[in-house]
Amino acid sequence: MITTDICIIGAGPVGLFAVFEAGLLKMRCHLVDYLPQVGGQLSEIYPQKPIYDIPGYPEVKAQELVDNLMEQIKPFQPTFTLGERVEHLNKQEDGSYILVTNENTQIHAKVIVIAGGLGVFEPRKPALEKLDYFEGKGVTYMVKNPDTFRDKKVVLAGGGDSALDWTIYLSNIAERVTLVHRNETFRGAPDSAAKVFDLANNGKIDLILSANLKELGGNGQLSSITLEGKNKEEIVIDTDYLIPLFGLSPKLGPIADWGLSIDKNAIEVDTRDYSTGVERIYAIGDINTYPGKLKLILCGFHEAAIMMHSAFKYVYPDQKLSFKYTTVNGVNAF
Ligand SMILES: Cc1cc2nc3c(=O)[nH]c(=O)nc-3n(C[C@H](O)[C@H](O)[C@H](O)COP(=O)(O)OP(=O)(O)OC[C@H]3O[C@@H](n4cnc5c(N)ncnc54)[C@H](O)[C@@H]3O)c2cc1C
Repeated sequence: MITTDICIIGAGPVGLFAVFEAGLLKMRCHLVDYLPQVGGQLSEIYPQKPIYDIPGYPEVKAQELVDNLMEQIKPFQPTFTLGERVEHLNKQEDGSYILVTNENTQIHAKVIVIAGGLGVFEPRKPALEKLDYFEGKGVTYMVKNPDTFRDKKVVLAGGGDSALDWTIYLSNIAERVTLVHRNETFRGAPDSAAKVFDLANNGKIDLILSANLKELGGNGQLSSITLEGKNKEEIVIDTDYLIPLFGLSPKLGPIADWGLSIDKNAIEVDTRDYSTGVERIYAIGDINTYPGKLKLILCGFHEAAIMMHSAFKYVYPDQKLSFKYTTVNGVNAF
């Protein structure tokens, strides 16, 4: 059981900055995110795009902002559970909560902050018979730990940045990497595509274009994949793993069943402190809604500051909160 003052669901920019605001008030945070890395939409969708409306930064690349946020919150030693989705919320007699993830990690917290953005990014899955059966038995949609694929045969499928980047990365680790794509050209970054073509031309990977996944084979564990090629011919590949990378689509997911007031896939909050109707549960960032809401990073940062001041009373019920500027108090590391 992980024990913390505040559990933040979502390690996007708003969840990360909330750690800083909590830390200033001496409240510890644990963050959970379904993605294998922090940064939310910024790291997953547009890491190299410049953002122009973060106060004090005329221009900052999305990933650079995430890296800076991680640096800023270091003094407050946040802890993370990545690659897991929060599924259940169990209220305790003293008002605190135990959160449970899809992998049965349990987190005990006095306050819950939902900073879940657009929701859980669910992988788009190929329409294949027996796909469910082979999930976790060779079929995976995320590379959580690249070492899992060391000296294994791996087939990746897709034509975007993730498929290209992981093909390049795993080509140095796996016994054999095959990239399957239904077109002749890639949607991902041109320099990554060029690198993949180079690897294929040098015999370092197998590249199969204009082909589609057709059938999975194996007895209890994936051992082969049948493709349908350009001329409807069948191509059978022996493999240990299939990683389909066809993009992610956001879903509100289990949060929708927690008795919160939901309007058009967003959680309604009280703008005085971004609390939901349920005691000790707050919602900040893209996931909340209120009159005049703007889905902007800077608005989420503001919400995080206000919300943490409100949550103080649950973490330190016997103390009076006194507001201090960082210029006066500094950043007192844990
Ligand atoms: C292409 C693009 C360009 C943009 N440009 C700008 C810009 O220039 N300026 C600007 O201010 N904004 C911009 N935005 C919007 C900005 O990215 C969002 O406002 C911001 O990401 C919201 O941050 P967040 O932390 O609330 O949510 P997110 O970044 O969405 O992060 C939420 C995280 O919560 C996780 N999560 C959700 N539910 C669960 C669960 N049950 N269990 C575990 N994890 C969960 C998700 O996996 C996700 O990582 C842009 C967005 C896009 C797509």
